[in-house]
Amino acid sequence: MCSRATRLPVRLGSVAIAIGLVLAFPRLGLNAPLTVLWQNMPIIALLNGNYDGITQVYEAKRHGDFGLGAFAQLDGEMIAVDSAVYRVTSDGHVHKASDATRLSFAAMTHFAPDHAIDLPQGTTLETLSRFLDPQLPTLNAFYAIRIDGRFSAIRARAVLKQREPFPAFCEVVKKQTEFSFGNVSGSLVGFRGPAYASNLNTPGYHFHFLADDRSGGGHVLSFTVARAGLKLQRIDYVDLAFPHSSAFEKSALAKADTCNGMALNEEP
Ligand SMILES: [Zn+2]
Repeated sequence: MCSRATRLPVRLGSVAIAIGLVLAFPRLGLNAPLTVLWQNMPIIALLNGNYDGITQVYEAKRHGDFGLGAFAQLDGEMIAVDSAVYRVTSDGHVHKASDATRLSFAAMTHFAPDHAIDLPQGTTLETLSRFLDPQLPTLNAFYAIRIDGRFSAIRARAVLKQREPFPAFCEVVKKQTEFSFGNVSGSLVGFRGPAYASNLNTPGYHFHFLADDRSGGGHVLSFTVARAGLKLQRIDYVDLAFPHSSAFEKSALAKADTCNGMALNEEP
């Protein structure tokens, strides 16, 4: 019987990476469980003001123990790790979210990493893609990624709670609160999305941070690794909901204004 449980994680040192070894992902057997990325809406809807809070934490948890998102009215950044869901509010505080708490956007998976890699000291958000992209079997699939360890620096943000009429997301980030962490231990939780799917989810690397002592976190703007390991899971399927909310149904997403294509990770 072929199952993911039989796959041993492969630990590759930086030497192996340096010679350009491509991570070998086993072929799926007929009975292999498929890894699924669930989303309650395409990201293009969030970027265009769908902040209503049309799903809840318990619904997100039904679809995974790992992920990220945003709370209703953009009142906090969401990070789901080790089966718990946290909210980082714009005052910098971390709160454990109850199951009834409403979310505007959530991207979740049941995290079962295929691979583990030690990251070189000094790895940043920018150099991560130069380091990891060439090792991936394809850039046309989604990956769930978790980085645990110590970081010499992390800069993160949380957006402010919004009121109707909701502005586009690129206007919201102009007033975001930013947090700086030095010499901090914690986890980065997120995904790598393919460029062609930018209306579906964030292209490239998108992480949310949670400090081990729960003293802070947020949407990651930059990081520098002191000592950390990365775990990776290739996504086989995307399970995408198309909301029945009035805001979603009336959004002019075919000609959506994403403020000249500003991505989530770009600064205002
Ligand atoms: Zn984010």
